[in-house]
Amino acid sequence: MRTHPAVKKSRTQLCFAPGCGQQISIKHLGCRRHWCMLPKPITQRIVDAWKDGLKHHLHPTHEFNEAMREAMAFIRNKQQPRATNDERVAA
Ligand SMILES: [Zn+2]
Repeated sequence: MRTHPAVKKSRTQLCFAPGCGQQISIKHLGCRRHWCMLPKPITQRIVDAWKDGLKHHLHPTHEFNEAMREAMAFIRNKQQPRATNDERVAA
């Protein structure tokens, strides 16, 4: 029986960024490109919350989920600049 490479590589996950689809190590949360896109306060918050979660038996904390949601919102905003934002800048 043949083993699919995708099945074999189970220690990967998808990049957190919406629509990215990049396979990354489970040690990371996003691909290098998207991770570097995040401002320092957000990445710092995620890392802190992640470390805190490790103390609690790998269970993602509320703080971690909140930080991830913030990161996703940031990327989404960056990828699809809203028309209302453009209007405000132009005005
Ligand atoms: Zn990505």
